[in-house]
Amino acid sequence: MSLWSPPGPPGKRVAPLAEDYRETPLWWDDTSFPVIAESPLPASADVVVIGAGFTGLAAAARIASHGKHVIVLDTGALGEGASGRNAGMIHAGVRRDVAFLERKHGAAGRALHDASVEAYAFVARTAATAAPDAMYSQSGWLHLAHRASRMKGLRKDEAERRQRLGEGTVMLEEDALESETPCRGFHGGMLTDNGASIHPARYLAGLARLSLANGAALHPHTHVTSIVTADAGSLVHTSRGDITAGDVLVATNGYTDAAAPWARRRVIPIGSYIIATEPLGDVRAADVSPQRRMMSDTRNFLHYWRLAPDGRLVFGGRTSFAPVSVQTARDRLYAAMIGMYPQLAGVRISHAWTGNVGFTLDQLPHLTRTNGVTYAMGYCGSGVALGSYMGTLAGEWIARGAQPAFSELRFPRIPFYRGHPWFLPIVGVYYSLVDGL
Ligand SMILES: Cc1cc2nc3c(=O)[nH]c(=O)nc-3n(C[C@H](O)[C@H](O)[C@H](O)COP(=O)(O)OP(=O)(O)OC[C@H]3O[C@@H](n4cnc5c(N)ncnc54)[C@H](O)[C@@H]3O)c2cc1C
Repeated sequence: MSLWSPPGPPGKRVAPLAEDYRETPLWWDDTSFPVIAESPLPASADVVVIGAGFTGLAAAARIASHGKHVIVLDTGALGEGASGRNAGMIHAGVRRDVAFLERKHGAAGRALHDASVEAYAFVARTAATAAPDAMYSQSGWLHLAHRASRMKGLRKDEAERRQRLGEGTVMLEEDALESETPCRGFHGGMLTDNGASIHPARYLAGLARLSLANGAALHPHTHVTSIVTADAGSLVHTSRGDITAGDVLVATNGYTDAAAPWARRRVIPIGSYIIATEPLGDVRAADVSPQRRMMSDTRNFLHYWRLAPDGRLVFGGRTSFAPVSVQTARDRLYAAMIGMYPQLAGVRISHAWTGNVGFTLDQLPHLTRTNGVTYAMGYCGSGVALGSYMGTLAGEWIARGAQPAFSELRFPRIPFYRGHPWFLPIVGVYYSLVDGL
């Protein structure tokens, strides 16, 4: 075990690989992103959006719908950021519960919680119209206690969700888990109707089509190197020329780099890794999760898993706080998966991949404006709903001046951090110890 990583299941396992095994997201195999021919950059635009993920594309779609000239720039191709790499598991709420948010941040905290609830509904609505092929499904979420001691926290959470937030929740004791998912190593869990699934790359492609249809221009393979702000607007320097912009939205989340130093001091990129099995077949897929729930556990080094529409098990986790190779992460995830579902031993892995999650010091997402530049980021692993909704709110703020109440929340700087997360080994050791309690 490295100091950066959690203890794995006993014994080392090497994942058996399918003949067509590849290290790209499963979702890219069956997604048609709009083809965008390279075109010259304009000298100016009303709004420049940096980042073509859920946040940037949703923002661009909304800004363009108000008749503004908006262009979206991205270093890579569509889908290469986290929005094309995630697990497509959706829930309402942020990492801090509503009681904490109200106590600590008052009305702005409550507004953030409410926005996260609206974000959940927003995905369902948007997918229905802009990405009907993304197979959005209201599936429910099962959150599993990896230690008996975690049941207490889950019970408190369950009661609050049911009584205060009106979620349909129920606690399952250990012997009742079998009917939901026959997996080993858990002491019970909380089942809530607050959970849905989507094909994330198709959802992203739908947002790209929507922004194009509304009149936005997308420029992939265009790297922003710096933003220089002035009273009359900003000058955006890129690998393909400079653009004068009335407004700039930075929507770079876990891929934020030196082009946005203010944001880089506030968001830490942490790798998350996913494997996908070959299709399990109807019987075995129904055995793993007859109701096709979204599932996760209570570890800080958390695992999250779901069935893909074609019956593969998509199994992800934060296998380490240090970057590890996809192969190392794949074998660790396979071992964890087999530890939970021994009946899947021998099932071959068809895909393994990684992407960056953007974490913040206060574990909250932020939509804010400073020095004339708007920033939307920091979803801490829950950006499918939050990213696309906060991007939309950012678009409303830029195009119509509709400032969200939670944009008042201070976006805390991470002490002694400028882009090199030297403290992650210490955090990794701490979380390994906490996970063992
Ligand atoms: C493996 C994994 C699993 C996840 N699972 C889930 C999940 O199940 N549910 C969930 O809700 N969330 C999940 N997430 C988180 C979610 O994917 C993100 O929160 C969300 O995609 C963020 O969207 P975004 O548009 O803000 O950023 P991204 O999609 O990451 O896009 C940012 C873009 O900015 C571009 N960029 C950065 N710097 C520059 C620059 N200087 N110039 C030009 N372009 C630049 C990058 O190229 C990138 O394309 C997961 C993330 C990962 C990595």
